[in-house]
Amino acid sequence: MTDPATTGPAIRLRGLVKTFGVGTSQVTAVAGVDLDIVDGEFLTLLGPSGSGKTTVLRMIAGFELPTEGTIELAGREVTRVPPFDRDVNTVFQDYALFPHMSVLQNVEYGLRVKGVAKAERRRRAVDALDGVRLGDYGQRKPGQLSGGQRQRVALARALVNRPRVLLLDEPLGALDLKLREEMQVELKVIQRQVGLTFVFVTHDQEEALTMSDRIAVFHDGRIEQVGTPAEIYERPSSPFVAGFVGTSNLMKPAAAQAILGRKGTWSVRPEKVRMVSEEEPAGADERSADGTVAEVVYAGAATRFLVDLDAGARLTVLQQNLHTSSMQVQTLRGTRVRLLWRREHEFQLD
Ligand code: ADP
Ligand code: MG
Repeated sequence: MTDPATTGPAIRLRGLVKTFGVGTSQVTAVAGVDLDIVDGEFLTLLGPSGSGKTTVLRMIAGFELPTEGTIELAGREVTRVPPFDRDVNTVFQDYALFPHMSVLQNVEYGLRVKGVAKAERRRRAVDALDGVRLGDYGQRKPGQLSGGQRQRVALARALVNRPRVLLLDEPLGALDLKLREEMQVELKVIQRQVGLTFVFVTHDQEEALTMSDRIAVFHDGRIEQVGTPAEIYERPSSPFVAGFVGTSNLMKPAAAQAILGRKGTWSVRPEKVRMVSEEEPAGADERSADGTVAEVVYAGAATRFLVDLDAGARLTVLQQNLHTSSMQVQTLRGTRVRLLWRREHEFQLD
């Protein structure tokens, strides 16, 4: 082996298993995870609550020992190395700031523990606070900050240690929607500027699609699919992924046979479907299926229509409200319609 920093991906997980408890109360939190995370990548662990995301993150950080399997960081095996000896930092959902310390002291804390000299650690903490645009807030206490500002302090406190890898466990979960969307953009900008490897945990599919270079979809302690946001969204590999990331829109085998003339379970995304009157012919490259509008869900910018197809599937159609009002779309409930979509937009799920 030569320079260990160049011999492997930033993070390599092999056969990772974690069980908690003993006997009948035993829980398998992580049931065999293999994953390579590239240097400088923004990788998101996405999945429902209880699917094992936090446990994987805690094993990478060194807070939990794997029951089986190995963890490498930049080519170095660290499976049994304690947290402080790993080149990673963690930002938790609740930020875990010290309430009695000033913002600056909070950010300096890790450097103080490591014995970095006072002038040096002050300089680096001020830099880190500038980096998250909180340069003027150093003297405040965490209690005097907004949720978004506290989140950025937590980020500065991790970045000040200049780790190669930053682990973030639902760091935006405590913020309201508007602030969360702002922070999503901001986090992404910071990650690009600093060039760090981010492993980001969320249960929010939209957050994952917006921020990630790649997404690993978790289900019952396993990774169900790994891919870019577009791959995960446009080509989900299983019914679970299709349903968790977006609306599943399943055509089960009987309906798929009738509508598409194909075997297996198929799907098409709601925004790819056009809803027209039954008289309108399909284009040469389009599928066509007739049905009845069962539900109308008006959501301001768009409306979702649930359509019961004669062939025996219920599909969701998403339409932008370009020319229609809430009154107009409501009158469509119970009417006969035709759904059209391009063949290239349908995909198989099994
Ligand atoms: P997620 O972060 O995806 O919500 P977790 O990794 O926190 O999931 O949990 C996965 C499973 O492991 C859950 O069933 C959870 O209850 C269980 N679990 C996690 N930590 C412990 C623990 N310390 N002791 C017992 N069970 C745990
Ligand atoms: Mg969790």
